[in-house]
Amino acid sequence: MSHEYVSDHEHDVSVEYLYPADSDVLDIYERDDRLYLEVATVCPECSETLALTAPVESVTEVDVDLPLDEEYYD
Ligand SMILES: [Zn+2]
Repeated sequence: MSHEYVSDHEHDVSVEYLYPADSDVLDIYERDDRLYLEVATVCPECSETLALTAPVESVTEVDVDLPLDEEYYD
């Protein structure tokens, strides 16, 4: 069973067809004492740009430098 989310777009977005290299962070903001990320990505079916909103569930240290270069996605 897939996790339900609110969407005003006609196509479902499936992780199989979503790529980090096609995505970028639009915004990071706080609402009701919780951090949220807004990520822009491309709909695999119609190429429309979509904004995905996600609550931050963890913060961990990671050994990469920003901005990420192309090699990171290989
Ligand atoms: Zn679409």
